[in-house]
Amino acid sequence: MEKNKFQNPSGMHDILPQDEFYYQKIYNTGQKILDFYGFEKIDTPILEMADLFSRGVGEATEVVEKQMYTLRTKGKDLLALRPEGTAPIMRAYLQHGMHTWLQPVKLWYFGPFFRHERPQAGRYRQFNQFGVEFLGEKSPIADAQIILILTAILEDLGFKNLVVKINSIGDSNCRPVYKKILLSFLKNKKSELCSDCQERIKTNPLRILDCKNAKCRQILAEAPQTINYLCPECHQHFKEVLEILDEIKVSYTLDSHLVRGFDYYTNTVFEVELAPVKKEVAEKKEEEIIAEGAVPVEAPKVEEKEELQLGSLAGGGRYDKLAKSLGGGDIPACGWGIGVERVVEAMKARKMKPNEPVVQVFLAQIGILAKRKTLRLLEDFRKERIRVAESLGRDSLKNQLARADRLGAKYTLILGQKEALDGEIIIRNMENGQQTTVDQKDIIKEVKKRLQQENK
Ligand SMILES: [Zn+2]
Ligand SMILES: [Zn+2]
Repeated sequence: MEKNKFQNPSGMHDILPQDEFYYQKIYNTGQKILDFYGFEKIDTPILEMADLFSRGVGEATEVVEKQMYTLRTKGKDLLALRPEGTAPIMRAYLQHGMHTWLQPVKLWYFGPFFRHERPQAGRYRQFNQFGVEFLGEKSPIADAQIILILTAILEDLGFKNLVVKINSIGDSNCRPVYKKILLSFLKNKKSELCSDCQERIKTNPLRILDCKNAKCRQILAEAPQTINYLCPECHQHFKEVLEILDEIKVSYTLDSHLVRGFDYYTNTVFEVELAPVKKEVAEKKEEEIIAEGAVPVEAPKVEEKEELQLGSLAGGGRYDKLAKSLGGGDIPACGWGIGVERVVEAMKARKMKPNEPVVQVFLAQIGILAKRKTLRLLEDFRKERIRVAESLGRDSLKNQLARADRLGAKYTLILGQKEALDGEIIIRNMENGQQTTVDQKDIIKEVKKRLQQENK
């Protein structure tokens, strides 16, 4: 065979049909919950002015400095493939005067984002993100509610053992003070830090806190913590967020090293991870790991190593100063984003299967006349909203019955040469093999009757 000439660009992946079910399940699960909580969907363009991100997300952030795909248009505009979802939505909020709408404005989105980073497990250069933005609300109730919603979506998908890590990084009032204290702590340790962190001392010292390098982590274990340097307002806000979380029974872990990568965050920041599941626990408590809506195939065996590679499934926080940095007014807001590919990987690692559509009826045919009649019959079933599978490409009845079996069809309708001529059709009960011949014009009625009896 000739070698394939073309392959997908590195870090950009095809989502094949069997994987689309995972994406659809995530989309549908999220949509249902967000509908309930009064969030409305918004779509912004894939391309934005590059400035939007350098001003909104921050010039010195890794995403803007190193990972953004930019292009110069013929009109000389510098555009960027959106690397994240919050700045574009705030841009839309300001542009369309949403501050004049009834506040808060609650929005959600689902779509592709782009970052030029080293491809690794669950991390792609084109990835899907699913997120919410809660705009125009400064109350800590908003922070707590979006965290509740985030865990609700992940739990509805079937995840258990969620770990919500939370921290407060203060605001423009108290963060500079903390930065100074952190820098003076790091003063004599610079040479021991990894090269990235040595660079970060100049550009973005807060990011040193969440460096994954083992040596850096060791040094940082002793570092001063942001929450001890919050101004009274920030302290009060964070305290209330935690109190509300306690009240609504969302458990969390305080993580003084959590800072998140973007400049626009103020006050609350959070991430959600999955607790590593030990093998023996996983095998014993299958039903606890696989919840409603997910079909267990076999006891999930999850390696601890696999879990660590995945990192957080979702993250977010409050960003009260973003609107101002984009030329708008004071718009308090918070939000989160779920890394859809990571959630898909985690579902697969846990052998959580998305619900594939259930096939109850399979339509088999033999011969050219039967094939033609099948097309019409399929359309009649579609109008009655009965899902019918077929495999028009195959001729052998044996193959078709095997496929019907594999799909889990309860009934197979068999249209042979003779039946096609006589205006009849055979209905076969796949469980007991019983076959009955009925008039073609009565077949929909007959199938409906049998399916109704099944459901009783
Ligand atoms: Zn480091
Ligand atoms: Zn403050």
